[in-house]
Amino acid sequence: MAPVLETRSDCSRCAALCCIAYPSEEMPGFSAAKQAGQPCPMLGADALCTIYEHRAEEGFSGCIRFECFGAGQHVVQTLFEGRDWRGDGALLGPMVEAFLALRPVSDLAYLVERALGVAPTDPALLQLREELADIAGSRETLADSARIARAGQAVRRAYASLDPASLQNS
Ligand code: SF4
Repeated sequence: MAPVLETRSDCSRCAALCCIAYPSEEMPGFSAAKQAGQPCPMLGADALCTIYEHRAEEGFSGCIRFECFGAGQHVVQTLFEGRDWRGDGALLGPMVEAFLALRPVSDLAYLVERALGVAPTDPALLQLREELADIAGSRETLADSARIARAGQAVRRAYASLDPASLQNS
């Protein structure tokens, strides 16, 4: 059985992947211009944010609101076994690619955990939790877009049978 995916970000175990992966036009609340895969200009040489404490005042409130649902630390700690691009620049591209591939899976895993909060023994949800963890287990399985799409459809089916009011209160 694959381990349960974490569904909350832990930046201390990531490598600033969200500060690199996206182009600025896909980053609401981000007041600089950058291409996909290019480090944010506010990222220091130590790969820490140089304006972390006053991002909102500097026009980067989107960074405060951004949540990767655990994708960042999963890429670094699981898919790259603790290695990161700060020690080997050649890893930057593959790590960003893995992060972008994992993001939709992490979104689905978050939705499944939320649903399990109100239906903790639902067999379909428990099976989906395992399926998503399995997909996230390697870069090869993350490349299976048809499998990810099927998981997304299954999540939508699972939600269709849940009481929306119970989700709002969870
Ligand atoms: S402003 Fe800071 S937190 Fe936001 S993307 Fe740049 S380095 Fe990352």
